[in-house]
Amino acid sequence: MQPTASRLHLGNYEGALKNWVRLQNEYEMFCFVADWHALTTMIEKTENIRENSLRVAADFLAAGIDPEKSTVFLQSAVKEHAELYVLFSMVTPLGWLERVPTFKENREKLSGEAEASHGLLGYPVLQAVDILIYKPYGVPVGKDQVPHLEITREIARRFNYLFGDVFPEIQNVLSDTPLLMGTDGRKMSKTYGNTIDLFETDEETTKKIKTAYTDPLKIHKNDPGHPEGCSVFALHAVYNKPNAAVVEKECRAGERGCVSCKQECTSALLETLAPLRKRRQEIESDPRSVENALKKGAERAREVASQTLVEVRKAMKLS
Ligand code: SF4
Repeated sequence: MQPTASRLHLGNYEGALKNWVRLQNEYEMFCFVADWHALTTMIEKTENIRENSLRVAADFLAAGIDPEKSTVFLQSAVKEHAELYVLFSMVTPLGWLERVPTFKENREKLSGEAEASHGLLGYPVLQAVDILIYKPYGVPVGKDQVPHLEITREIARRFNYLFGDVFPEIQNVLSDTPLLMGTDGRKMSKTYGNTIDLFETDEETTKKIKTAYTDPLKIHKNDPGHPEGCSVFALHAVYNKPNAAVVEKECRAGERGCVSCKQECTSALLETLAPLRKRRQEIESDPRSVENALKKGAERAREVASQTLVEVRKAMKLS
């Protein structure tokens, strides 16, 4: 996860972190903050990267990533990533990188005289390093992210073809992630400014739900409603699961009003988030706990990464 300025929202939590928390009981997980990757978009504001990185790491821990079970670290603390990046850069054909759709999109987004950097072009190579250096079984991804892993597989295959089998064929560890609707009825995204943030205050969450988009045709309590397009119902479906069928039935039948429906939704959501928000406050009052987890995580990550580098140098006859 990149240490951008924006805070984690419920969409990020449901789409990624919640699954990581579950998966750490089944796999050895490596969860890192991609602070070098952030340089591709934050080169003019580098002074914020460290603070943002620590915040993201604190978010990991508050969300339930347990540093006793999972390896949590900053990408820049494991210099082996840089060495493998150089070596992978030599085996990756330029054409592969120029064809990556996100490179084209990001280049078009650059304003004025700004030119795309070598780092922006090489982003997928560094991403392949971040994954393959731990020789993992797989990567937890949502269905829409599956194509992003393909270039990692291609780089691994090309390396293995040139130097012998070092890297595994990584698997997609797919998870069912609900697509969360934002408070304006569109997909929850920081771009639309319609997010409910994981670690905002309960008051902020309450206020957002109070003004959230509902069925515009349902004006009075006894008007029949259409929950399918309602952002509040979308939250009921995830955070008030046991009652979601009743909410839907009563809404359609004109037996519930939007005001009380929003109150019920807020209570269910706040109850779910309470332990996470409490843990976040505890972590904030003890910042050393994050630094200690990152230090321990970097040591474990380096142990694995340096062993992979030994194998890589040997395969390339560089040792
Ligand atoms: S009653 Fe609830 S589900 Fe129905 S439109 Fe109002 S807020 Fe949405």
